[in-house]
Amino acid sequence: MRLSRIAKLAVLLLTCVTAGVRADQALTPADIETALTTAFAKYKGLQEGANADYIPALAKVDPNLYGIALVTPDGKIYTAGDIKSEVSIQSISKVFTMALVIEEAGPEAISSNMGVDATGQVFNSIVAVEQYQGSEMNPLVNAGAITATSMVSGNSRDEIWNKILHFYEDFAGRKLAVNQEVFESEAATNQRNQAIASLMYAYGHIKDNPAQATDIYTEQCSVSVNVQDLATMAATLANGGRNPLTGKQVMSSQNVAEVLAVMATAGLYDDSGQWLYLTGLPAKSGVGGGIIAVSPGRFGIAVISPPLDAAGNSVRAQKAIADISNALGGNPYEVTPVE
Ligand code: GLN
Repeated sequence: MRLSRIAKLAVLLLTCVTAGVRADQALTPADIETALTTAFAKYKGLQEGANADYIPALAKVDPNLYGIALVTPDGKIYTAGDIKSEVSIQSISKVFTMALVIEEAGPEAISSNMGVDATGQVFNSIVAVEQYQGSEMNPLVNAGAITATSMVSGNSRDEIWNKILHFYEDFAGRKLAVNQEVFESEAATNQRNQAIASLMYAYGHIKDNPAQATDIYTEQCSVSVNVQDLATMAATLANGGRNPLTGKQVMSSQNVAEVLAVMATAGLYDDSGQWLYLTGLPAKSGVGGGIIAVSPGRFGIAVISPPLDAAGNSVRAQKAIADISNALGGNPYEVTPVE
């Protein structure tokens, strides 16, 4: 473990000892509001990390953009900070495309193709592909995610794309649009992802047309969302696949557990174990600066703040979510013994 990692773990552990509501206690609106405003204020001045710049359009996003939203299964929305500004969803989209593939083809379609194991490598690792020839990885790293996109059924690019976008919209509870500037910027610079898709094709995980899969994947990463959209998407997972704002059953409740399991395993890439150790929460980050986290049955939460750490995870978002979840008894592994 590098020294900076040890320091980071120590800081996060310290923030996590400020216990609040127990996991078996009901949450009150006042508890939630206090947790959000406290975490918002605590990290507002934090100047750590840097915007992703390997996608040129992301380097231009305001690094001070900072918003928090939490949505409960009964449809209440709590927010702090900037809830209007939108960022590109980036890798958070991988969760929902994985969910779509599971809905269409069953959980085994994922586990028997790219797998559901941690890679221990960065999200766009080629070494991780080579290690087991594209198996024993997961749909939340680029190779597995582009493969998942290739598995969405449809007779044309348009049909596949519309299905993906509408699925995301059902989770967010509103119409979403693509940020064209981000899409074009990434499409012009995504040669590494094209290479990854070619390898997944060579190893038989992508059956056909890796170029189209990469292109649709790049477009899905460019979907524009605000922090309330992201929190609603997380809350739909926290509520057994039913959107708490629209009441729509977006995916079948029996498939949600598998989605959350992969988020717990790989949602924050090679820092996923560290994150789970601190929070117990299935989560997913994106290089646009968003992170979603799910406390099953309790809440969905999202934070947007573009500056990222070395693993590609938003610095402020990790800290704010860990604090808020801890204050609200969000860790699903925390159980009070029966008297
Ligand atoms: N579109 C980005 C990529 O493929 C998504 C990466 C991320 O958010 N970690 O590199």
